[in-house]
Amino acid sequence: MISKKGDELDKLTDVVLKFRDERDWRKFHTPKDLAMDLSVEAAELLEIFLWKDKKEIKKIIREKKKEISDELCDVLHVLLLLSHDLDIDLIGEFHRKMEDNRKKYPADKVRGKNKKYTEYR
Ligand SMILES: [Mg+2]
Repeated sequence: MISKKGDELDKLTDVVLKFRDERDWRKFHTPKDLAMDLSVEAAELLEIFLWKDKKEIKKIIREKKKEISDELCDVLHVLLLLSHDLDIDLIGEFHRKMEDNRKKYPADKVRGKNKKYTEYR
């Protein structure tokens, strides 16, 4: 059974809203700035792996789990704020988008291939 509203996601959203309200930061959180921040936090995740070869990446994954987790949490933090502020049901929209993805990338047509959907039609 897929719920439209994830209880845990709602709890996490409450946590980030409380964090923001306690600091009176809502006034800084325009959709534009939150979208930019989402990209910045994703870039901080990328920076961990920047210029590393396959061997170094394996080592980083073993030794920098905390840093990687921190950046993933920063991405989630901003994602929760932005989806809340835009009144987007992230769980419901995620399931809708996955259904779109299943139609766009039918498993029997794309299995094992790395082409964009426009390249195999
Ligand atoms: Mg960060």
